[in-house]
Amino acid sequence: MSDCIFCKIAKGEIPSNKVYEDDQVLCFKDLDPQAPVHVLMIPKKHLDSLSAAAEEDAALLSHMLLKIKDVAKELELDNGYRVVINTGEDGGQSVKHLHMHLLGKRSMNWPPG
Ligand code: AMP
Repeated sequence: MSDCIFCKIAKGEIPSNKVYEDDQVLCFKDLDPQAPVHVLMIPKKHLDSLSAAAEEDAALLSHMLLKIKDVAKELELDNGYRVVINTGEDGGQSVKHLHMHLLGKRSMNWPPG
């Protein structure tokens, strides 16, 4: 996806504040943090959203969850944290490349807005 901002970040064409990277995923600080800790985890493979994921992406999705848990530990979110995947219009998704938000270091509300 040549016009996808997160694909450009994944390729290093747009700078990001990197927190973690491996061959499948990149984790970086959100530009507009909604909590003292707010990072995004993206797959390097372009998927428009969680809705676009297929059975063949099962290992990738599992990898993202396990790595975001490791990042949470690395960032010392020992008191808990929230992982969010905004999906589609009603889900509040603004960037059309699958991403997980990791938010922490403050108490979260429920239900979310
Ligand atoms: P969503 O609304 O779930 O699609 O989340 C998109 C997130 O991407 C928002 O929290 C934005 O602040 C964040 N974002 C957009 N562009 C960038 C960027 N260049 N670097 C870091 N975060 C970004």
